[in-house]
Amino acid sequence: MRWEELTGDQFGQAVAQSEGVCLLPLSCIERHGHHAPLGTDMFIAREVCNRAAALEPVVIFPDFIFTQILEARHVAGTIAIDPDLILHLLDNVCREIARNGLKKIVIVNAHGGNNALVPYFQQSQLVSARDYVVYLASRSNFATDHAGPTETSAMLVIRPDLVHMEHVPTDGEGEALGRMNHLLDKGAMTGIWWYGDHPTHYAGNAASATAAQGEELLSGAAQALVEAIRAIKADTTAKRLQDKFYAAGVNHQRT
Ligand SMILES: [Zn+2]
Repeated sequence: MRWEELTGDQFGQAVAQSEGVCLLPLSCIERHGHHAPLGTDMFIAREVCNRAAALEPVVIFPDFIFTQILEARHVAGTIAIDPDLILHLLDNVCREIARNGLKKIVIVNAHGGNNALVPYFQQSQLVSARDYVVYLASRSNFATDHAGPTETSAMLVIRPDLVHMEHVPTDGEGEALGRMNHLLDKGAMTGIWWYGDHPTHYAGNAASATAAQGEELLSGAAQALVEAIRAIKADTTAKRLQDKFYAAGVNHQRT
């Protein structure tokens, strides 16, 4: 059940049918090489959520594209939101989802640039009491690939009309340049590492992408998400422990 497609009158029933679970698909708008659309992550997150919802009743929040992508500010089409605003907006959206009765919010992240942000956001929930839980469904392969064979294969299923395989480079453009390896090899890193490796914001080699591979990846991701949703529906421990934790923080009980 897509949030934006429900009427206000239908909403209460959707909350009940979904057992209070809402998927929050995270993505961003960023360059995906020469061949794939700026909204690749958005299309993939939406597709995985839609497929999961067809198998297990759940409400899906509209595409949330305002996430961490500062490392692609130098290339055309990127929407890079200020870091503090991202956290504030995400928190505000979660509070709004919960206010509407969906107390189990499941982040489904399709963008690798959020792999550090999401756990930090979850940890930040501990700052003050809330009547809902923010879960992260297992990270899919899609959040570890950038315009390479995984994402490109998925797009060949979802929107083949937007994929230009004839523009996939043949000169190794997607290979990591390793310009920061002198530090990374010693366990030291900087925020410019991604640009150091991939200045054209393309990683890997999408030439081997196929729709058949994409179908396998999407159905696998949807199935894994369904299993996570079922476990989350059954979970009562996270909320109970959160409540106990918040109360202890106020009363300084030894629990
Ligand atoms: Zn992507």
